[in-house]
Amino acid sequence: MAEEKLPTRAEDFSEWYNQLVLKAQLADYAPVRGCMIVRPYGWALWENIQAALDKRFKATGHQNVAFPLLIPKSFIEKEKHHVEGFSPELAVVTIGGGEELAEPLILRPTSETIIGHMWSKWIQSYRDLPVLMNQWNSVIRWELRTKLFLRTLEFYWQEGHTAHATREEAIGETRQMLDVYTDFAVNEAAIPVIPGAKSDAEKFAGADVTYSIEAMMGDGKALQSGTSHFLGQNFAQAFEVKYLDQNGALQHCWTTSWGLSTRMIGAIIMVHGDDQGLVLPPRIAPIQAVIVPIYKTDEEKASVLKAAKDLKAQLIKEIHQSLYDKALAFRRANTRETNTYDELKKAVEGGFAFAPWCGSGDCEAKIKEETRATMRCIPIDQTAVLGREVAAGGACVYCGKPARDRAIFGRAY
Ligand SMILES: [Zn+2]
Repeated sequence: MAEEKLPTRAEDFSEWYNQLVLKAQLADYAPVRGCMIVRPYGWALWENIQAALDKRFKATGHQNVAFPLLIPKSFIEKEKHHVEGFSPELAVVTIGGGEELAEPLILRPTSETIIGHMWSKWIQSYRDLPVLMNQWNSVIRWELRTKLFLRTLEFYWQEGHTAHATREEAIGETRQMLDVYTDFAVNEAAIPVIPGAKSDAEKFAGADVTYSIEAMMGDGKALQSGTSHFLGQNFAQAFEVKYLDQNGALQHCWTTSWGLSTRMIGAIIMVHGDDQGLVLPPRIAPIQAVIVPIYKTDEEKASVLKAAKDLKAQLIKEIHQSLYDKALAFRRANTRETNTYDELKKAVEGGFAFAPWCGSGDCEAKIKEETRATMRCIPIDQTAVLGREVAAGGACVYCGKPARDRAIFGRAY
């Protein structure tokens, strides 16, 4: 019986993606709406992603830990912006063992609160700092519109959490982990991401600054593929995370958090996949090409094995680089340096607009309302976006006031 063919990406990108994920047996829909089951092939890919990241986290001094899934509901209410941001997505447990609980528990949407609570007990002096932790787990966010790997009620990720004595050190950590994500995306997943700062409207609930890596999918839409947050002293104040400095004065810590999830699998599929199906970057692909060395004599054995090894190294290099180059060329071809609102509107139809913006949340909100494009990030390296210099300054594409930055706008997953 003939296999039913995938729709082409041009016909229906969304359906191409859905069918590909199912047919390649990466994941399946769970009996509970919005949940996914990651199948062995998908999980093997995730394990390779985990290994590549975990190695980098340990090389930068972080240790793995495990905090519980259940968090007292009162914890989430202690940081004002955090509770506002996460309330609509919370799953709450009110009954346990057949009894109504004295205090409802939430299924963690992220773990800043419980970690802050424990740090207030563990951190006493500057000698206890920095604290550099990471945990691999799953979290629950009650999303309304879901899509396999990209947005599901429960998803798998890592969440890094660190506490520092100074603001500068915490900002340095935030930027370091953004660099780690960028390095992973470029050198393992072959995805040319744009690292940059989010707007106030798009930042993490409770953060002072959020950085992200943004990638362009095969349909020209954006996918936020990893985030790193400078949390200032917001959580340290809410949870009384304090330390005695070298002069004996009590200070609040400065904290960070950073996360990358199974969303990355969705990014890999949508960046590299083609009309034939799945294309995986060789450094993290679960199934590699098989090279069979054939020799008759011992003399031949050594030279044949060497040739096979050389061929393997060459294939992984070459394939990785050609996937990366192709994705970068696609992203640059579909990113327009726009200077007027009309140009922006046209650009976001099928890609990114790289446009001057005054920094106002009002302009950002109007652009979103009128074009469905969101401010993805202010790229740290403005020249890398298009591979050439872009004009600085200018006038905001929406209001015409002097621009503060040139920012990426695009429709997003
Ligand atoms: Zn403006």
